[in-house]
Amino acid sequence: MTELTKFSVLCSLFTWTQRTKAPAKKRAKFRKFLDNFCTDRNYFPAIRLILPNLDRERGSYGLKESVLATSLIDALGMAKDSHDALRLVNWRKGGAKTGANAGNFALVAAEVLQLRQGTASGGLTIKELNDLLDQLSSSENRGEKTLVLSTLIQKTNALEMKWIIMIILKDLKLGISERSIFHEFHPDAEDLFNVTCDLKLVCEKLRDRNQRHKRQDIEVGKAVRPQLAKRVANAADAWKKLHGKEVVAECKFDGDRIQIHKNGTEIHFFSRNFIDHSEYAHGMSEIIIQNILVDRCILDGEMLVWDTSLNRFAEFGSNQEIAKAARDGLESNRQLCYVAFDILYFGDTSVIHQTLKERHEILRKVVKPLKGRFEILLPNGGINNHRSSGEPCWSFIAHNAEEVERFFKETIENREEGIVVKDLSSKWEPSDRSGKWLKLKPDYVHAGSDLDVLIIGGYYGSGRHGGEVAQFLVGLAERPSPNTHPKRFISLCRVGTGLSDDELEAVVTKLKPYFRKYPKTSPPSFYQVTNHSKERPDVWVDSPEKSIILSVTSDIRTIESEAFAAPYSLRFPRIDRVRYDKDWHECLDVQSFIELVQSGNGT
Ligand code: ATP
Repeated sequence: MTELTKFSVLCSLFTWTQRTKAPAKKRAKFRKFLDNFCTDRNYFPAIRLILPNLDRERGSYGLKESVLATSLIDALGMAKDSHDALRLVNWRKGGAKTGANAGNFALVAAEVLQLRQGTASGGLTIKELNDLLDQLSSSENRGEKTLVLSTLIQKTNALEMKWIIMIILKDLKLGISERSIFHEFHPDAEDLFNVTCDLKLVCEKLRDRNQRHKRQDIEVGKAVRPQLAKRVANAADAWKKLHGKEVVAECKFDGDRIQIHKNGTEIHFFSRNFIDHSEYAHGMSEIIIQNILVDRCILDGEMLVWDTSLNRFAEFGSNQEIAKAARDGLESNRQLCYVAFDILYFGDTSVIHQTLKERHEILRKVVKPLKGRFEILLPNGGINNHRSSGEPCWSFIAHNAEEVERFFKETIENREEGIVVKDLSSKWEPSDRSGKWLKLKPDYVHAGSDLDVLIIGGYYGSGRHGGEVAQFLVGLAERPSPNTHPKRFISLCRVGTGLSDDELEAVVTKLKPYFRKYPKTSPPSFYQVTNHSKERPDVWVDSPEKSIILSVTSDIRTIESEAFAAPYSLRFPRIDRVRYDKDWHECLDVQSFIELVQSGNGT
């Protein structure tokens, strides 16, 4: 009987699996455990402990390492400033206090527990452990959680407690993939899990390993594991991989991947990890009910925040705050906005087997977009169509690698995260990362030393940053004679990403009084323009002494510059921070920059 099996048996399996190298042996041992200890074929109580990150029957424990540390200190009745208490709190740090296990909370905790718990097993069964873990997840405050932890400590030894901590942290580090565990359990387990995200259902439906399960399609109300994107190095690579296909290039929005399931008036918001984010309901459910024109459907997309005063998407990170504000009925100029980029189910049928192109058509028919609240991401002709309309380009049908490259560059300059390139003839496949979707994101690598550059001009943004300076032209100093300040500056590159909206606004506000337009042919005299430097900002900073230094990092491959005056420019530069602590004249000079590039830091 699974539930009456002692947890110590599972602990032996865990310890053995972690120590053994050969994958086949690990799988065989797992099989043996199932055959010997789950004779009633009631697999779920054990498998939920083996794959804790996939178990959604229990709510979250609300115990990350830091809270777990303080709860354990209380549960063990330790003084807060004792040596061992500090080891738990400082589990990340190395050194004498934490010892060799620094960085692995469960191991640090096991060392601390060993001195207090001894080695004799407490005889806890799998059922008892699951009951206590249920109590832990449903207890509402830290005091209650501490009580459950002390019960667990009483009923276990240090080794068992170590594994329980790893279960609570949802990562056993067994060195065997979830896929291998699924395959060993049942040949159809992974497929069934991918379309239901329900571990209990998988364990219950697939009790007989020899009986195959008919492939199941997706259902409204059951989260589906999302289709994923494979990373590629550059646009040419992406183009080569999708050679001969009809291709759509889309902006990679930086929000929360959310699947919306609509069943009449019942709405679910499933995350990538199949957690139902009901907090989005306050701001979004009504809009979804009104603007999806069918009763039942599943949409795939990104939950973002729209700023109504700036008329653009807000930067990533405020979804939860805005969801709370909507729940509490607070007035705000920010609101949740869902961008649907795919549709998986509509009416009574799954449409994942249709092509992306066909799914786009369905999406167009099913969703009535609502500006800044509920948008759909559909290609609108070629890249040039967008340019002529003046609208920001979010999605277009690409005809060659150069168009993809151009779009990527523009997207990065517009401070977005990157792009996703998709095969329009592809199906949507749960959990697939085989390359039907390709993502391009810049590689940010520190150039070994900070590049402190001076802002010499500004460019107006588009889309999310329309109407305000959103990017800067930055420059290097011409090396001044000893004990003097630089007099001339040379343009290096254009940079927009890296700062938060607030940081960007602060810099722009400080520089606004000094921004000036100059005729294209006669920029201000202190900025050196050579024949080949074609780059002109929309506005110049009319006196370098008033300007601000930025620390810039970049993709390690500096490029030989055509547009800028400096002999090299940077690929995908990104602002690391604003150096209000430095004076304008402390800007990096051209010679030092060239030495840095040639010394191998930047080439
Ligand atoms: P990353 O950290 O790069 O987002 P990831 O592993 O979370 O990686 P990937 O599947 O590799 O996810 O990249 C796709 C992710 O990009 C999706 O999960 C989704 O959240 C996001 N995304 C944003 N815009 C799009 C889009 N237009 N199409 C597909 N995914 C998009």
